[in-house]
Amino acid sequence: MTLHNAAYWKQKSAELSLPAQAFVNGKFVPALGGRVLPIMNPASAAVLTHVADCQKEDIDLAVQAARQAFESGVWSGKSPRERGQCLVALAALIERDKEEFALLETLNVGKPIAESLLFDLPEAIKTYAWYGEAIDKIYDEIAPTGANALATVTREPLGVIAAVVPWNYPLLMASWKIAPALVAGNCIVVKPSELTPLSVLKLASLMEEAGIPPGVFNVVPGTGPEAGQALGLHPDVDCLTFTGSTATGKRFMEYSGQSNLKRVWLECGGKSPHIVFDDCPDLDKAALAAAVGITSNQGEVCIAGSRLYVQSGIYEQFMEKLSACIQAIRPGDPLDPETTMGAIVDERQMNKVLDYIESGQAQGARLRLGGQRTRVDTGGYYIEPTVFDCDSEALSIVSDEIFGPVLAVLRFDTEEQVIAYANDSIYGLGAGLWTSNLGRAHRVSRKLRAGLVWVNCFFDSDITVPFGGVKQSGSGRDKSLHALDKYTDLKTSWFNLEP
Ligand code: NAD
Repeated sequence: MTLHNAAYWKQKSAELSLPAQAFVNGKFVPALGGRVLPIMNPASAAVLTHVADCQKEDIDLAVQAARQAFESGVWSGKSPRERGQCLVALAALIERDKEEFALLETLNVGKPIAESLLFDLPEAIKTYAWYGEAIDKIYDEIAPTGANALATVTREPLGVIAAVVPWNYPLLMASWKIAPALVAGNCIVVKPSELTPLSVLKLASLMEEAGIPPGVFNVVPGTGPEAGQALGLHPDVDCLTFTGSTATGKRFMEYSGQSNLKRVWLECGGKSPHIVFDDCPDLDKAALAAAVGITSNQGEVCIAGSRLYVQSGIYEQFMEKLSACIQAIRPGDPLDPETTMGAIVDERQMNKVLDYIESGQAQGARLRLGGQRTRVDTGGYYIEPTVFDCDSEALSIVSDEIFGPVLAVLRFDTEEQVIAYANDSIYGLGAGLWTSNLGRAHRVSRKLRAGLVWVNCFFDSDITVPFGGVKQSGSGRDKSLHALDKYTDLKTSWFNLEP
């Protein structure tokens, strides 16, 4: 696919109309208190627009709208096929407007336009289409009772779902929750990140055209401590589905305990180990995967391969290849289709990443590449892809989720040793390994404590497989049919058939 040039995208951005209000009960509305949040472009630090800053009273209205829509049966009473058709229609509408969506993601997150257009958008479109097509192919159960009874086990929607999502893939992370929750018959209130609400608000503008009734889908932009907490504590929310940091995930479990024991599903942080054994089938491919694994989306990826373990015998050879791949990736203007790495989402996140780089050096790691803020003249928040050689597991750049383009590389000698290193983390989201030995591939992948394991690849996935982690990376799974488990309950109905 040939992409338009930067001039085209600049012209389009000048013509773009930006959403500014919350979406409640089928209408765009200001926050009741009239407050607004500035929404920034991280590539220039310019204010793009202002968006409604929802408070508790706005959340109450949105939850009430979702509750009324749910109880009325206007959505939950439709057949699965009818609901599915609405999601398929929504997918087609996003496809129609995909350039506008891609531009909103790029302007608001700082990610390259090529990534928005060739990854975020196709994945989001596929998510709605896939659940829309799947839902009328799923059957409930009849239990193996005796002849004098019939017992059915049916999946029931939960009611009102609240989704609280992060800024790194604003549309896609939300879509992984919206699509299965809606198709199962629930109504939803989405709180996007206060940094990046634009694409989910644009999604709201398509609901009526897709045939999704008012109140079924609501968006309440606002901050975590106000809008997020109000959803977490709300007594009429049945389920809170969250993607974000582990620290915030823990708060949602507390909010649930303090309120109505709503179900809480968490997709949290990660520090994915990426292991290269000396029998790696293709060092060039592995080096490229390691480079992409830490620079894709500026390293702001929960499954970023941010801990790289290379077996001692191939260490220097591999690091030369990796360095060449990383040096080919330079931060650039996100609107330029040639750019492979954009800007960090905001100044705070940029400073956090720079602080980690400083701490790595202070703690004795050797800086091999990068380490600096760059493109300062643009006003944007760019950081060079950064690689450290590390001698110790004890460094904070090895243990902490940095959420930026900073790679910690360690050497290892044996399989047992690297499994122990890889599992020595509070996180358990992704993990990758490269080997030609089939036995080792199976053995190590089973021993890695992670929700996702890649063998001789990294990041490969699609909508058909579950996505999520173990340990403090969270609970429950997004994507695949298993995601429906989060948004449905099993109901047993026992029919006495005795005459
Ligand atoms: P974050 O936890 O700061 O914020 C996530 C969401 O929670 C935002 O909408 C925010 O407003 C809200 N929030 C923040 N504080 C809150 C509070 N006190 N009460 C209620 N809500 C609150 O995370 P982030 O910085 O937006 O995103 C980065 C994090 O997301 C990283 O840790 C990353 O690993 C994680 N993430 C995980 C996955 C996954 O699938 N596991 C995917 C993407 C991102």
